[in-house]
Amino acid sequence: MKVPFNIPYYTGKENRYIDRAKRSGHISSNGQYTKKCQSFFESRYGIGKTLLTTSCTDALEMAALLCKINPGDEVIVPSYTFVSTANAFATQGAKVVFADSLPDHPNIDPDRVEALITEYTKAIVVVHYAGIACDMDKLIDIANRHNLILIEDAAHAIDSKYKNRYLGSFGHLSTFSFHETKNITCGEGGMLGINDKSFMQRAEYIWEKGTNRLAFNRKEVTEYQWVDFGSSFAPSEITAAFLYAQTQKIDKIQDRRIELWEKYFEGLSFVEKAGAINIPDIPSYAMNNAHNFYFWVENETLRNDLLKYLNKKGIQAVFHYLPLHQSSFYQNKHDGRELPFAEKFAKQIIRLPFFPNLTEKKIAYVNSEIKNYFKV
Ligand SMILES: *Cc1c(COP(=O)(O)O)cnc(C)c1O
Repeated sequence: MKVPFNIPYYTGKENRYIDRAKRSGHISSNGQYTKKCQSFFESRYGIGKTLLTTSCTDALEMAALLCKINPGDEVIVPSYTFVSTANAFATQGAKVVFADSLPDHPNIDPDRVEALITEYTKAIVVVHYAGIACDMDKLIDIANRHNLILIEDAAHAIDSKYKNRYLGSFGHLSTFSFHETKNITCGEGGMLGINDKSFMQRAEYIWEKGTNRLAFNRKEVTEYQWVDFGSSFAPSEITAAFLYAQTQKIDKIQDRRIELWEKYFEGLSFVEKAGAINIPDIPSYAMNNAHNFYFWVENETLRNDLLKYLNKKGIQAVFHYLPLHQSSFYQNKHDGRELPFAEKFAKQIIRLPFFPNLTEKKIAYVNSEIKNYFKV
């Protein structure tokens, strides 16, 4: 049986909305579908203002521009994350200070963030790995006490909550991804969330190539001109129309993802009880948005051997995130601290195939092959 890692889910309405965008004659950025998506996310998630972007990488680059990084400024970023979380700030000249994960979860360890803060620290970026919230009360308290900008990389975390509030609504800024491997998608796409009002005007300038075009559109100024840094961050209406179709079915997509997650969990909790794998506990303050299904095993040799076994059985399980402090680009710039838990997750995690059209039958097959491997 072949079980691919990811197959994008289509709601069936994408083409209809794309056709409408075409017929409207407005297929560049900031048309009706961009506005519909932004209103949807703002009202559903309680985010002050949102701007669609062409990727989460772009949203992170906007966040870095909003931070006004000066030479020597430092930004604290988890080591166990995708490249863009750090790269956006490094590109603006920041020194990236890498933080370690919790011993039992890939998320940043909030109790060890404060020791990394210096007089040069400008911002803290956190990643809600697998859509499981970081401990936001602790992180907000640290950011406030040190007057730092708090940014949530919520690429995994759409529709997920910390306590009773949606992720992406906590940080001064937050970023989302609609890449095809994320919970809802438009192929490549993203979004910047802005909760701190003081960033809103500059965010508009940066989004519109460094111009005040949005103020001009609202007739607040009589001409638009170059007023700040910026780039072409806004996606076309073709992309926004596609994404809008996905927003309309987000409850259905989420219900299905959670159902599938539970199937893996039921099938594998026996293997966990036998001591062969670790499935992370979900803290009481967090909810599971079923972004992915992952577990970790004892060591790297075992992880690679299990991956090879599953791949041979047609199951496209994968691992991810080489620790950024050990990357070829940053290892010489890193201050030399060891980050044992980021290194542990990089060596020991396995991610299983996960997408809405995965069948129960295929999950049962994956689960049984994992049981076979461990002979439990
Ligand atoms: C996917 C991902 C990104 C990048 O998203 P793109 O939309 O592909 O640019 C950034 N951070 C994290 C944690 C991600 O998982």
